[in-house]
Amino acid sequence: MRTSLILAALSSLALRVSANCIYGTHLHRRAEDGQVPISEFGYSGTKGPVNWAGLSAENSACATSKVQSPIVLDDSVSFASEAPEVSIANVEEAEFENLGSTIEVVVNGTTKVAGTEFALKQFHLHTPSEHRINDEYFPLEMHMVHEAEDGSIAVIAVPFQLTEDGSTTELLSAVIENLGDIETPGTATKTGALDFTQLIDAIQTTPLFQYSGSLTTPPCAEGLTFLVVSEPLALNVATFNSIKRVVKFNARYSQNTLGDTNLLELSTDNVNVLNKVLVSSEVNSNVSCNAEPINNEVASTTVHESTSTTSSSAHESTSASESTSAMAHEATSNESSSAAAHESTSSSESSSTESAASHESTSKPSHTFQTSTTVILTPEQACSRFGICSAKFGHSSKRGLFDWFGF
Ligand SMILES: [Zn+2]
Repeated sequence: MRTSLILAALSSLALRVSANCIYGTHLHRRAEDGQVPISEFGYSGTKGPVNWAGLSAENSACATSKVQSPIVLDDSVSFASEAPEVSIANVEEAEFENLGSTIEVVVNGTTKVAGTEFALKQFHLHTPSEHRINDEYFPLEMHMVHEAEDGSIAVIAVPFQLTEDGSTTELLSAVIENLGDIETPGTATKTGALDFTQLIDAIQTTPLFQYSGSLTTPPCAEGLTFLVVSEPLALNVATFNSIKRVVKFNARYSQNTLGDTNLLELSTDNVNVLNKVLVSSEVNSNVSCNAEPINNEVASTTVHESTSTTSSSAHESTSASESTSAMAHEATSNESSSAAAHESTSSSESSSTESAASHESTSKPSHTFQTSTTVILTPEQACSRFGICSAKFGHSSKRGLFDWFGF
């Protein structure tokens, strides 16, 4: 079913932003007739960002587009050549809604970017920040969503940083004045009086990263302009904690470098290659080891060996019995408990050399010691030493990480 959804999406959808494909999404999602629509996507499990493309054929860009947001901002991303002209009237109150995926304030205003005028539709909050600046994330990010007459979208993103002196951006304090009224998704209330002076000043006087990216929420449509304030605004701990308690977690993971393969597509390719290697390895291992599979659903890529014994010094020994207790631990791909495979071997042998992995006892110990060694074995080593030859490491489409989220 997922495959058919994706194929249908690929064949029928253009990825460019248009007013039509944005309608009903984050941009226009607001209360109508007193009803606040709750977002169908989320940030955990199968509703989370890794599976957004699996939720609807319209979301195909989330898994295929090469210019997705958010991104890590650094020297490779240019600053806007000129400051935007922002105009937002102060208001006594504004509509304040809990959409489930964010909390949103419906306000009007205009922003002129390089000669194009955009109308401010709403602003909403992400915790933690979606964009990262030189890899650093911030506790909060505001998205001010604008739309031009031709349907093109511009988003001004504003990061906020916690302050040690308790200073804060008063606009946010006023926004959350009645936050307690909308703790439940699908509810609405009013903000306190909103003064945008401080916010507008920061936007117009701070260098802004500018790039062409995408909606950070489904349908992840391309072609919108992001302007990201490069210096965070102040946020006190009390305001942050209040917002976080209601919003919880709503940040999409950082996307690949602009223009490079979508990370989901890249990872899928990697899994496919790995599966082919594992199939080949399994055949070869079974031939060389002549051992029965221990667990075809084993997921871990590592096998840990622990040895512990009490013996005399190996240097005194020319004839010894070796006692090795080896334990291989393997975790299943989707179970909290581990599926451990245990194997013990005991043998007697003659040896004149010391092995790092073996401990030898003589019949007349002069002194004793204890050692405990943990090594990580490759699949080949696990096969040759312990006969664990056909383990599948949980990267297949049925058991692997991507299947946990619907791929
Ligand atoms: Zn957003």
